[in-house]
Amino acid sequence: MKAVIAISMVLLMLVFCLPLLFIPSRGTDPPVPTALSPVSSVSPTVGISPLPSVPSSVDQNTKIRFSRNGKVETISMFDYLVGVVAAEMPASFNIEALKAQAVAARTYAIYEIRSGKHSGFDLCDDFGCCSAYADPDELRIKWGDSYNTYFGKIAAAVRNTDGLYLTWENEPILAAFHASSYGSTESSENVWSSSLPYLVSASTPETPEKVTNLFSTVTVSKNNFKETVLAKYPEAVFGTDPKQWISLACYSKSGRVTSLRVGGVKMTGAELRQLFGLRSAAFTFEIEDNAIVFKVAGYGHGVGMSQYGANIMAGNGSTFDKILSNYYKGVQISSFSGDFKS
Ligand SMILES: [Zn+2]
Repeated sequence: MKAVIAISMVLLMLVFCLPLLFIPSRGTDPPVPTALSPVSSVSPTVGISPLPSVPSSVDQNTKIRFSRNGKVETISMFDYLVGVVAAEMPASFNIEALKAQAVAARTYAIYEIRSGKHSGFDLCDDFGCCSAYADPDELRIKWGDSYNTYFGKIAAAVRNTDGLYLTWENEPILAAFHASSYGSTESSENVWSSSLPYLVSASTPETPEKVTNLFSTVTVSKNNFKETVLAKYPEAVFGTDPKQWISLACYSKSGRVTSLRVGGVKMTGAELRQLFGLRSAAFTFEIEDNAIVFKVAGYGHGVGMSQYGANIMAGNGSTFDKILSNYYKGVQISSFSGDFKS
């Protein structure tokens, strides 16, 4: 069965951009057919060594004006990052994955502050704007009896990467991350239209055996499908043959839908994903008698570090710098001076 699935995935990749009629109607697991590379094959040195010496308490001495629940308070970078890592990654994850997340979160914070997007404060707690954040009271509720263990673990991940952040040509990178991918992550230009040299497709080691819900299925009735599309795209036209409702699906090399036509309207895979709450744009679809069935791989936009992939890499012995060098190609790990302007 696995061989059949693998062959169908490879065929899918070869076809690359195919109309609906050629999508296998049954038994096709989600796309992303790129062969998995063993984690041990990841080069540890490409662009990211040696590590700077760990400075002392840069994070503690760096102050951030943080807007939380509409009130601005000044907190240390350390306290901010502990709250961000705790909110963004399961505390049960391997310490090296948590350290990779801490570096990504620090990088993202520096990037955002330097962009000057807010006035009167540096960062906010709105996940859609800056990073997610959880304060100690929320974490006590979330973690219960494991609070001390988990808090100590995440504080150690931040402390043991004190001041470290990722740079490209001496500038902080856009350290995007997502929950999981299958086979490969996605290049940034296929999701956000802008191409960044370090956000390119990378192999990632998730398997359904190691990641619960790596594959998911969403079934939408034909009426619901039509009404949902028309609510957002009133110009869509649905004929009597539902087999014609979705056409010209194009896939990126990593197996995500880049564009397709629905009721004649061209949209991106990400837009269709949002319409129907799919966990990612790595999906195939089947039109059955009364419903459209989406089979989806991974969770999130697919760009940058995969968190579950990072955890599996860490479990296989990769340290945080090797994890970061896999997902952010050619970047350097730099040591933050504490000055956001330089
Ligand atoms: Zn913000």
